Order: sequence, then C-alpha cells, then structure tokens
Amino acid sequence: MTEAVRAAVDDRLEDALELTAQLVRERSLLGFEEGAQRVVHERLEQLGFTVERVAVDAEEALGNPRAGIPLLPYAGRTNVAGRMRGTTPGAPTLHLSGHTDVVPVEALERWTRDPWGAEIADGRLWGRGAGDMKAGIACYLVAVDVFLSLYGPPTGDLMFTSVIEEECGGNGMRAVLAAGYDGDGTLIAEPHYTHVSHGGVGVIWARLTARGSGKHAAYADQAATTPPIQALVDAVGALRVLEEDLNAAGGDPAFSDAFAHPYNLNLGEVGGGAWPSNVPAEAYLRVRLGFGRDLEPVEAQRILFERVAAAAPTVEVAFEGFRAHGYRHDPDTTLAHLVCAAHADAAGFAIGASLSTATTDARYVAGPTYCYGPQAGDIHGIDEWVDITSMRNVTATMVSVLARWYGQA
Ligand SMILES: [Zn+2]
Repeated sequence: MTEAVRAAVDDRLEDALELTAQLVRERSLLGFEEGAQRVVHERLEQLGFTVERVAVDAEEALGNPRAGIPLLPYAGRTNVAGRMRGTTPGAPTLHLSGHTDVVPVEALERWTRDPWGAEIADGRLWGRGAGDMKAGIACYLVAVDVFLSLYGPPTGDLMFTSVIEEECGGNGMRAVLAAGYDGDGTLIAEPHYTHVSHGGVGVIWARLTARGSGKHAAYADQAATTPPIQALVDAVGALRVLEEDLNAAGGDPAFSDAFAHPYNLNLGEVGGGAWPSNVPAEAYLRVRLGFGRDLEPVEAQRILFERVAAAAPTVEVAFEGFRAHGYRHDPDTTLAHLVCAAHADAAGFAIGASLSTATTDARYVAGPTYCYGPQAGDIHGIDEWVDITSMRNVTATMVSVLARWYGQA
C-alpha cells in the first residue's frame, strides 16, 4: 500500500464518519428506507456514477421459491443503482453493494446512547445500523472517491448498489442483479472484519398463530381445546426438536464441520392475549430457522409445517420474509486473495475466508462474492457500534482492491 493511499484515506476519515452519521440519523427501518437511500443516491451522483432507481417486482418475488415473501408494498421504496463505465472494453467489472435497511430498536431504556444519534465516543460510532452496515457503505463510497482521485476512472465498469430488505428477504439485491448490476466480482460491506465471509446458512421465517375463545378463565374448558398460548408453547417444543435434528443430521458438511451448532431456531417476536383471567382470542409467534444447503427453503418450510401440525394442530403456520437458500462461494479466487492481502497490508493482520451462521445478500450473486467491512459490535442489539480505526483500514483496503482489480496499481 502506498503512502499516497494511506495519506488520502486519513484525510477522508472525517468524511466517512460524517457520511455514516448522516445514514444512521435517517432511521431507515423497514418501510422508511428512502431517506438513507437518497443520501447514497446523491453521493454516487457526486462521484460521477450514472444512478437509477430499481423497483422490486412483488409478483415475481412471490412466485420465486428462493425470493423473500414481501412484508410491505413497494410503493416509494426502491433500490439505488449506480454505474461508472470502464475505460477499457472487456476489462473485469466490479460490483460494490450494501443495504440501508436496519432492524428495530428494542428496550430503548437500556441503550446508553441515542440509537439514532450517531454519537462518536471511545473510538466508536454508536447507533442502530452504524455497524450493520452503514459504516461499511460509507467506507466503500469514500474508497471509490479516493481511488478515482489517485488512479482515475476504472478500466472496467464499476457498479455500486444500495439495496433495501436485506434484513427480511433479499428482494432488493435480487432486483438490482436482475436489472444488470452484476459484476465479475462482488463485495458487500457487511461487518466482517477479521475474515471475509464467503457463505451462509439457509434461513426461513414463519408466523405461528393460535386462536381461542376469548372467554373468562372460569368458563374456559381447557380440556376441549388447547388454549392459544399453550398451543404455541407446544409448537415451540416441536421446533426445538427440529432444530436439534437439523444440527445432528449434519446434512451439509461445510457448515457442520465449521460450527458445533450452525442452525439456530430463534423465537423473535411474540404477542397476543390481553388479561391473565382471559383465554386469549389470539396469540402469535414469529420465528426464524436456519438450515443447510441440503434443504431448499421450500423443503425447510414443509418440515417446519409438518412438525408444528403434529405437535400443535390448532396452530396456523404462515410463511413471510426469508426464503433464503444456504450458499457458499469459492474462497480461493483472485478477488478473495486481493481483499485478504490488501487488508493485511492496511490493518496489519492476516485474514482468510469463513462461513457464517447467518445469511446475506451474497447468496443471490452467481460470481465470486464476499462480505467484508468494518468491525462492529452488538449488531441488531442494544448499543450497536462500529470501530473507527477499522473504518480507516477497510477504506484503505478497498482503495487497494479497486486499484489492483482494475490493473491500475
Ligand atoms: Zn447486514
């Protein structure tokens, strides 16, 4: 890495922090992504990209067994896609991507920082989405800026997309890929700093609903019908057995070799009932289940449905959000080697490729695709943060990756 790169990145660190803060303040929860999308759109135009908005086709998504099942209408919610034409026909192209959607803030009273305040303290920038993954988007954008100023326009096309719905189904990434934003290599700025992530498990979501009489507890005939919350408890018992069955089966050696327990059942959201002395009229539970590449999402859905039906026949099962297939990209490619070598140079320690027990938008990309970005903590949790030194190192790494990928350094 040249001194010029280091100096230029140090010079621009303030810009990366300000851009991250601007994105965090936009509160881009599901359905409210547009403010953050506009920030990325404007920055891409300033950098000289030709920028368009790419809509999600809800009908197409519903009909695709590996697509997300939309949770909300798509009116006014689009993906940002920018392209900078390369100077040399036939030169390799690169796609950089990130998602601006963030997960909800829970237990606000337990946060010690304003989740939307983007406070800088203790070498970190704090807030919902700071780590997952607005700092990553900011670092990639600033790296493109530094690359252009030091090396000029890229030899091959450079694509930059900012997508929605990574956290609930992946239809944003599917839409930009279908619109032609698909490079010879792809990097996604998810917070993987001590490795590049080259694969993830399959994930489905399900909503379990149980209905009851709504009667006074004194008149409830509990023997006749399982009360709704009890029915959900019975369903959870069956799903815990399914979870252990999936982990014990080891049907996908890539994940069972890498992790003791790769497939997690998460009980994510519960509601229903209104009073201790009432049988609830309705109760619901939203769950997430992981699985390996030996199962297609539709097969995982079928198994989950059958297990619930057998243990808790009054519980209705509906599927929503994720229908993510497990995926694994080749960890031994030019792009992976470039990122790892540039990172070692910038950050001073070596990294390699690892798998993850979560999923990312990388599953939809055909060519070599890796997740790499700044060090984050408590993502999806209370007091989420991103480390500022790692932001500098990721930005420097990405300048080198761009220069070498395009043969300009
Ligand atoms: Zn993420």
